[in-house]
Order: sequence, then C-alpha cells, then structure tokens
Amino acid sequence: MKLNIGYLYPNIMNIYGDRGNVIAFAKRCEWRGLETEITDLDINTTIDSEKYDFYFFGGGQDKEQILASKDLRKNKANLKEAVEKGAVILSVCGGYQLLGNYYQPLKSEKLMGLGILNIKTLASNDRMIGNILIESGLINSKKIVGFENHSGKTYLGEGVKPLGKVLKGWGNNGEDGFEGARYKNVFGTYMHGSVLPKNNEFCDLLIKLALKRRYGEVELKDLDNSAEENARKIAENIKQ
Ligand code: GLN
Repeated sequence: MKLNIGYLYPNIMNIYGDRGNVIAFAKRCEWRGLETEITDLDINTTIDSEKYDFYFFGGGQDKEQILASKDLRKNKANLKEAVEKGAVILSVCGGYQLLGNYYQPLKSEKLMGLGILNIKTLASNDRMIGNILIESGLINSKKIVGFENHSGKTYLGEGVKPLGKVLKGWGNNGEDGFEGARYKNVFGTYMHGSVLPKNNEFCDLLIKLALKRRYGEVELKDLDNSAEENARKIAENIKQ
C-alpha cells in the first residue's frame, strides 16, 4: 500500500521544524512497510484533488502567510473537494489560520483563508508562547504535547470541534480553554514542536484516516513507541 503526501508551501511555511511532521508521518508508515511519496506543493502549483491522501500545512510568519494566502486561492475548490472526499490535512499555526475563514493581522489587510475550517483568527498584542499540554479524546493516552508561539487568537464557529482542552499553555486564544480544531479529517493546531514525533498516537490516527480514504479500514502494526512516550512524558512535566 502507498500513501501520497502533499506538503503545502514547504519553503515558506516551515518554522519551528514543522517539517518534522512530514518526516514522522512518512517514517511511521515506512516502519510498517507502507510506501509514501512526498510532493512539494509550493507557490504556483495546481493541486489534483484526487491524488493526495495526507496534506501538511505548517506555520509561518505574517509575511509568508500573505504570500501563501494569495497563492492558496486558486486551489480553494480543489482542496475543499479533497476534504469532502476524506483527504486528511494537518495544519499548524499559520497554516491552521489559513484553512479558516480569515486571519486579521494587527497592521495589515485581512488575509482570506480557504474556509475549510469554520474559524476566524484575530491578531493580538499577546505573544502566546511556551510548552502546551492538552487533554484530547482523539487518542487513548488522552494527552497531546507541543510548543506554541503565536499572537493570533482563533475562535471556532459552527461545525468545528476543538482538538482538546488546554491543561497547560494558551491554546486557541487563551480565553476559552480549548486548543485546535477538527472538521471531518482536517486537523488544525497551534502545536509546533514538531507535534507528530512526540505524539505517536496522533500520528497513527492520521495515517489510519489517510489509509481509510484509499484502502478502507487498515489495522496498523504495533511499533516500539518507548522513545516517543519518554519524550512526551518529559514534555508533559515541563514547568510552564
Ligand atoms: N503569524 C501567526 C501568529 O503569530 C502565525 C505564526 C506561526 O505560524 N507560528 O499568530
């Protein structure tokens, strides 16, 4: 079995080592004998809505977000179609914000998003930075850890569920106690780190969903997750 990975804007939306999410996804497939092909979907690329099983959209500073926001428009219909057909997307921070309706920076014009996630983001004077720990019903261990650094405050609208409850850190906006967003197989989060290497169950959930889109239900072979679990335990107990 093979999974096609579409890496959105790898050269401009790749801060805090977010590339590590693509590496972790591909490695945990490879360790199970599953083939993967990673395609860079950069500026001026037309996206084939049928081709990709998993997309990754990383974080970026405001100036890169302006570039990505302008370029994304031509693929809006293709990506929306892909999502409705079960494609899996993991988006982090700036990428998360641009999957929403819009991101309003403090000093520049509103950046329109794809409207795939019914969320909006307003820049603020708070710099929400530090280690973050959430409780999430998505996975058995119930805990997802990461590192956040954003000034944007994201608010969820109808039809979108949070990834989880903030136990330590700021989360979407430092106000409502929630972090991230999910709609169908689209996941948004503020967790850099990168998030997937330390959160093996979350990574495996995304792999299973991507496999299901192309092959139906597939049981994943167990892996030795001791390194990941040790890393997560240390991260969970880091003082804020
Ligand atoms: N510019 C956005 C913010 O600060 C996103 C930053 C990022 O991707 N880390 O909210």
